[in-house]
Amino acid sequence: MPTNIAIDGPAGAGKSTIAKRVAKELSFIYVDTGAMYRAMALYLLKHEIPMEDAEAIAESCQDASISIRYKNGEQQVILNGENVTALLRAEEVGNMASVSSANPSVRKKLVSLQQELAASADVVMDGRDIGTVVLPDANVKIYLTASSRTRAMRRYQELQQKGETCDLDAIEADIKERDYRDMHREISPLRQAEDAVLVDSSEMTIQEVCDAIIAVYEEKK
Ligand code: C5P
Repeated sequence: MPTNIAIDGPAGAGKSTIAKRVAKELSFIYVDTGAMYRAMALYLLKHEIPMEDAEAIAESCQDASISIRYKNGEQQVILNGENVTALLRAEEVGNMASVSSANPSVRKKLVSLQQELAASADVVMDGRDIGTVVLPDANVKIYLTASSRTRAMRRYQELQQKGETCDLDAIEADIKERDYRDMHREISPLRQAEDAVLVDSSEMTIQEVCDAIIAVYEEKK
């Protein structure tokens, strides 16, 4: 049976950076489920499906074929034959993903894909509902969080490094709005699984967080 490590938490908690590094240290595969929801959002945006039209989203998502591949150890997302990985981090795509991911048809499709991946390999999978819904029997469950200010600051620095102008308060407001949507949606809301270990990364370095997660894994092995 493959070993599965589930990492859930709010936007900007550092899940992907941490999950990627933990996967590398353990020689597991890293699966970024947010990127799958983003690819679906990109598809919906390209087809000009309005955010508020749940019926149109449910119908349109059936025509999106999403799969993942690995190139030099990095996850690549393929949307209807096209590698869309480079397009997924845009704010617009993230905002659409936060809305369209609440759609049951979208979730059904992507959760099956995630479960297939986890059944076939040792994975570190990050998202919002991995420990609660996708992999309820995961060997290790982590709930990774940080204060909204810390998360906004990290995003701010990331954007600044790319030379983009940005506003810290606006980023924090956006993060809070996304948290609210993720935590209050009807289907698979973001919450800490009862058996998940809480890690607050506000005052921790990336390596400290990775070490803490690997220690939980070693303990449960
Ligand atoms: O983690 P990331 O910001 O890339 O995720 C984009 C959006 O996809 C999130 O705002 C969340 O609404 C959704 N998502 C989800 N379930 C997951 C992963 C992401 O609903 N397992």
